[in-house]
Amino acid sequence: MKLYNLKYHQEIVNFEKAVKLGLGQKQGLFFPVELPAFKPVELLKILNMDFITRSTEILAKFIHHEISKKQLHQHVQEAFSFTRPLKVNITKNIDCLELFHGPTLAFKDFGARFMAQMILLMNKKHESVTILTATSGDTGAAVAHAFYKMQNVRVIILYPKGKISYLQEKLFCTLGENIKTISINGSFDDCQKLVKEAFNDKKLKELIGLNSANSINISRLLAQICYYFEAFSLLSEKKRKNLVISVPCGNFGNLTAGLLSKALGLPIKSFIACTNSNDTVPRFLSSGIWSPNKTVSTISNAMDISQPNNWPRIEELFNRKQWNLKELRFGSVSDETTKNALKELFKLGYTSEPHAAIAYQLLRDQLKQEEFGLFLGTAHPSKFKNTVEKILNHKIILPNALKNRINLPLLSYNINPDFKKLKQFLLDQ
Ligand SMILES: *Cc1c(COP(=O)(O)O)cnc(C)c1O
Repeated sequence: MKLYNLKYHQEIVNFEKAVKLGLGQKQGLFFPVELPAFKPVELLKILNMDFITRSTEILAKFIHHEISKKQLHQHVQEAFSFTRPLKVNITKNIDCLELFHGPTLAFKDFGARFMAQMILLMNKKHESVTILTATSGDTGAAVAHAFYKMQNVRVIILYPKGKISYLQEKLFCTLGENIKTISINGSFDDCQKLVKEAFNDKKLKELIGLNSANSINISRLLAQICYYFEAFSLLSEKKRKNLVISVPCGNFGNLTAGLLSKALGLPIKSFIACTNSNDTVPRFLSSGIWSPNKTVSTISNAMDISQPNNWPRIEELFNRKQWNLKELRFGSVSDETTKNALKELFKLGYTSEPHAAIAYQLLRDQLKQEEFGLFLGTAHPSKFKNTVEKILNHKIILPNALKNRINLPLLSYNINPDFKKLKQFLLDQ
């Protein structure tokens, strides 16, 4: 697969290079030169396949020139070796797609684990690699666990101090070994900026074999396409007809993957781009003006991002497919309304968490009579135990993935959002 740099179209790389670089020159994102699509008969065929075989077919559509199907199948199996997405019935016309049954209890396991497999495959000479990534909560855990104890790989994760949940922090800041975590005295956007600065430093990049694991990495996006197909395959003929998928967005990687699944031929009628009060995209879609505000903290902290990195990819995809951005539905939800949505879901017999509750709220508000709605359950409620328990007045039981880590000491370093400090750390540690 050839990919071009959205900020510098002359830069064209293959999949391997794009995975290794993360970002291109001028901090541009990579985007496929050709957008593959399944023919209707192919689509029917793959919808009947099991999750692993179908996911292999989907990924092969993009990268079969570089990785054989057989090899890909092995790596997909390894990456998605946990419970596949589960569909839960919420109301007559709304289902939730639970994507949080992986080792770190959030959908980020799909992308992070597939990326780890790709880096493993591509590091033929066993050179040392440094994975540097910023997290608003869940990426960190997924990436840390995906690369834990992997040889020749050092993982450094930046997160905003005090702005991720206690359990989120416990999940990945207690591992040690090849996983180093740094809390930054700032916001997620500050963390993201530091990562970009590191990538701009050519010498540093070469010296430590820098690689990014953000949702900007193309391998993560491709992996996430697979569960949209799985969701579709789990629906009845009738529900497939007017399907609306509601996506809780932060960096907009998940939505990008959803839109790519549509570009591949999956007949999804519409998507809803959902945010919390960090509503740069909803404001942009209604006014045409891009004006990020300062990031504010909310109870859906993994979505506390006001400068979503993946947005240029979405615009490019709409341009390339000649889709109209007006067809993208959107909305933002305050903390108050999120809490009410969570309570409403609970009354319906479903215990959820703030991110999914936002997607549910906008779906129920915007769903038309003839449509069927699916909202994405992006994290397990236990990751936000304290918040959820307080809102619902209901005890949340911790799954083993969390119970096993809760008493371990935090091993994080702490620095100010100062690139010099980060650079020193990268060179010294
Ligand atoms: C990361 C995350 C999101 C946002 O996903 P993006 O791909 O960054 O838009 C939503 N919910 C949860 C629980 C997350 O961890």
